Amino acid sequence: MMEQTFEVQPCGVKYICDTCGEGELLPNGKNDWSAEQKPFEHECTECGQKKMFSEKYPLVRYKNVDE
Ligand SMILES: [Zn+2]
Repeated sequence: MMEQTFEVQPCGVKYICDTCGEGELLPNGKNDWSAEQKPFEHECTECGQKKMFSEKYPLVRYKNVDE
């Protein structure tokens, strides 16, 4: 076994509100640790819609860069 490096490209991911389609869902600091799967409450910046997620948006993902 040996380590090997590969090239990745960082990609910012934000979550646009399902309800109004305009606001962005951001963590409001109310985390529910009893909800094991989705502890992070987010709130829409426009309409105030709330939704639970397993991770905090906005987040960064990495995609592999081919060749
Ligand atoms: Zn909204």
